[in-house]
Amino acid sequence: CGIMGYIGYRQAQPILINGLRKLEYRGYDSAGIAVCDGKSIAVRKAKGRIDALVEKTEKSGLSGSIGIGHTRWATHGRPSDENSHPHVDQTQKFSIVHNGIIENYLEIKQELIEQGVAFSSETDTEVIVHLLSREYDGDLLAAVRKVAGKIRGAFALGVMSEYEPDKLIAVRMASPLIIGVGENENFIGSDIPAILEHTRDVYVLEDGDLAVLTRDSVQVMSLATDEPIERDLVRIDWN
Ligand code: GLU
Repeated sequence: CGIMGYIGYRQAQPILINGLRKLEYRGYDSAGIAVCDGKSIAVRKAKGRIDALVEKTEKSGLSGSIGIGHTRWATHGRPSDENSHPHVDQTQKFSIVHNGIIENYLEIKQELIEQGVAFSSETDTEVIVHLLSREYDGDLLAAVRKVAGKIRGAFALGVMSEYEPDKLIAVRMASPLIIGVGENENFIGSDIPAILEHTRDVYVLEDGDLAVLTRDSVQVMSLATDEPIERDLVRIDWN
């Protein structure tokens, strides 16, 4: 139900967890984070309160300055550690968080199972990360576009891959998502409170928007075409 993402020069873990806490008001039944240290992706996730996740990260923390986080409001699959996001593919090279519902997940799941994919959760979301892994051909952006063309429903996505550890991709389709623009760091959030302590400059994505974030750039594009989109950078002046 809430998404947080970070790419920058600081440790991602505390930033992600604080951001998730700011999204608690949206309601959730589990929470998780995935962090990439430039070489590999590691995940911690737990059913229950964010404190349950914090307990896991206190036992063994994640190091790295790029990551994605999620608070889940289960729609497909009961609340459990396995069904919590982020989800990873079998090679552990891709990780995603998702808000919303993938309406055609069953047919995609069936197809992937026939191709030998082993699923580790009961969620609708998990098909996305396996599709991404299947479609990836050296270009994460192209793979995300292909996958977005196959799934139907409501989705806000945060995507990260070990193959391209210098970027995060965000997608918005009928689920809210904003991009926070900082200095040598950028953020993804479901809502403004998640990022407000770090920056007040945001892009509010619209349905069908995709954004590519690096440490020092944000590019908003259309999901359907390669056209860059000019969205106004909004300055938030709440206290
Ligand atoms: N449909 C997904 C699930 O049940 C995402 C739910 C959400 O938006 O938190 O895992």
